[in-house]
Amino acid sequence: MQLNSSGLQALVAGAGKGIGRDTVKALHALGAGVIAVSRTNTDLVSLSKECPGIETVCVDLGDWEATEQALGNVGPVDLLVNNVAMLLKQPFLEATKEVFDRTFNVNLRSMIQVSQIVAQGMIHQGVPGSIVSVSSMVAHVSFPNLAVYSCTKGTMTILTKVMAAELGPYKIRVNSVNPKVVPTAMSQKVLTDPELARKLKERHPLQKFAEMEDVVNSILFLLSDRSAPTSGSGILVDAGYLAS
Ligand code: NDP
Repeated sequence: MQLNSSGLQALVAGAGKGIGRDTVKALHALGAGVIAVSRTNTDLVSLSKECPGIETVCVDLGDWEATEQALGNVGPVDLLVNNVAMLLKQPFLEATKEVFDRTFNVNLRSMIQVSQIVAQGMIHQGVPGSIVSVSSMVAHVSFPNLAVYSCTKGTMTILTKVMAAELGPYKIRVNSVNPKVVPTAMSQKVLTDPELARKLKERHPLQKFAEMEDVVNSILFLLSDRSAPTSGSGILVDAGYLAS
């Protein structure tokens, strides 16, 4: 997919592994400048080797003060991908304060903080921008043992709309992508039982899970001017699951 303007600067939050890492690689291949933000430095070092010229920032995005220090003076950014998330399995009746606080800080509060920093920069520079957050199908349907994680993703839906409404007058678009299951380290935590994985796959009308490339393509589409009239919305990357 083409981004229709070279020389754009992108920031990817949660860039060390999985979908975030592949998004950095795709944006780099398309000629965008990339600031890759993640928590494990070895991931960022190996990513820099694969994508020469990218900038890396190593910070725990669940820590407000550390994030402010690390990203408060980040330069101009045209494209933002809020991809960071953590997932700890707990059924609703066993959900704890500690898991609630940490998961909301990492998955949701970081979206607010990083988006504020980037959007304020866009407004200051007077440039248009596009923000894409990686949400999930669990914003729409329940999945066993993911009570707190699902709440963060459900809240991202209304946050995406609020941001789209408030930032639209500054020509900043805000959208989400909502994948179901994508083979990464995170999904391995959920699909430990091969039989459950098989049955779940069968429930998808297309009889497959999405691949990382499918999610990255949807992110690139929403970042690009090809989706110019779209804001406050989202793309389901779910192999038809919600239709079933
Ligand atoms: P991974 O766990 O593979 O990668 C997540 C990345 O985010 C890692 O590099 C991780 O670093 C980083 N990260 C996590 N916590 C922090 C933090 N506090 N500060 C900075 N960086 C952090 O996840 P996926 O690629 O699978 O998921 C990416 C997004 O897609 C998430 O938002 C997830 O909720 C969503 N999603 C994934 C699905 C799937 O099936 N995989 C399905 C639906 C949605 P480190 O490893 O060092 O912690």
